[in-house]
Amino acid sequence: MKSPYTSQLLMPGVWQITDKPEGAAFGVDMYLLEGTTRAFLIDAGESKADLAGYIATLTDKPVDLVITHGHGDHTAGMGQFERVYMSHKDVPILNSMFRTKVKASEIIDLKGGEVFDIGTYKIEVVALPGHTPGSVVLLDRERQLLFTSDALGTGVLWMQLPCCTSIEAYAEELRKLEKHVEGMDGLRLYPGHDCQKNLNFGMQYIRDVRTLAEKIVSGEVTGTPTEDKSKITGGLSASYGQMIGFIYKAENIYNKR
Ligand SMILES: [Zn+2]
Repeated sequence: MKSPYTSQLLMPGVWQITDKPEGAAFGVDMYLLEGTTRAFLIDAGESKADLAGYIATLTDKPVDLVITHGHGDHTAGMGQFERVYMSHKDVPILNSMFRTKVKASEIIDLKGGEVFDIGTYKIEVVALPGHTPGSVVLLDRERQLLFTSDALGTGVLWMQLPCCTSIEAYAEELRKLEKHVEGMDGLRLYPGHDCQKNLNFGMQYIRDVRTLAEKIVSGEVTGTPTEDKSKITGGLSASYGQMIGFIYKAENIYNKR
């Protein structure tokens, strides 16, 4: 079988690994960060292939796996790594997408605020509930890199799923994130899907997502129904700035979580 993985060295010690099974319209992006003592893999892709073997061709350091959220397209290879971190809030979501149950005891919980020292670089865990209750993003403050997976979308953001928080709660989390990265004008975002690579993902993108979330909550913006009529993935789509499709359901704006 042909390997679904390809990789690109973004800067010394930072790889973007794309998992794109044959025939898929777009891929899922993972990131490998290598320090002097350890390496740190962000997410585990959607293919059931030899991810650990592929990672071993890129680094000879011991690899810890951090899962940003419990969706099946970011977790498929997680059983191949010894030390796995993920918010326990997403364990029920993960289990609903897997036939074999993953036990919370096999995963090290992330609450946000943890700092991983991989040698030379430090990676900080920042909780950003919204897309899922346990979503986290990973910040390299020194190099101004923010690995966001699905937590801010990729021009398109899915906030319409049953596991998503209310838009009201999400807007509050976005305000906290903006404060947390205040002044980092060179901040560069690395999302979890490659569908909108031409966008300039920086501080302005975070502002656009936050502003749109607030406009949806205040009623200033109302989305238009998506072409997708599925009860699960369909909804309303709103746009603002670089956010071309903020998908949500009207009943989930308030009072959910
Ligand atoms: Zn997701």
